[in-house]
Amino acid sequence: MATDAYEVKRGIIGKPKVAYKCAKCHNDLESDLTDAGKKDICPFCKAAFIVPGQRELNKIQDAKKQKEAEKTRKDEERRAAKAESVRQRAEWLRLQEEEERTRCEEEQRQAEATRDENVRAEGEGDKTKGILGILAAVVVVVATIVFIMVKLGNADKRRR
Ligand SMILES: [Zn+2]
Repeated sequence: MATDAYEVKRGIIGKPKVAYKCAKCHNDLESDLTDAGKKDICPFCKAAFIVPGQRELNKIQDAKKQKEAEKTRKDEERRAAKAESVRQRAEWLRLQEEEERTRCEEEQRQAEATRDENVRAEGEGDKTKGILGILAAVVVVVATIVFIMVKLGNADKRRR
């Protein structure tokens, strides 16, 4: 490994590490990749240096940011879908309510129409009864007159 060479080690568990050699004493050193770009001091020779691996760290952080953005976007989509479903449900309920109201109004209208019809029918029934009564009275009177006339006629015949 050259003095400015380094290796990023990404274990399945734990933080990624960056392995490198001290530029001055060439001892093997290792830092957390999250320290890349920061100043450090060699524990062997006390030489100051910048921890390498900035590019890899940036890449990892970018990927993380992208993943977070993707998650935020998906969360947003889920929220929007839920809001839409709530809106549709409310709309459905509103339509149901409207339908129910229309149905009630229709029923009320029909009930009123039926009542009016009954009142009218009753009125006509009364009229019919009146006419029938008058007719019956007329028939009785005519029959009585005819009966009397027939009786008188018979009495007349007998007298002759
Ligand atoms: Zn050193």
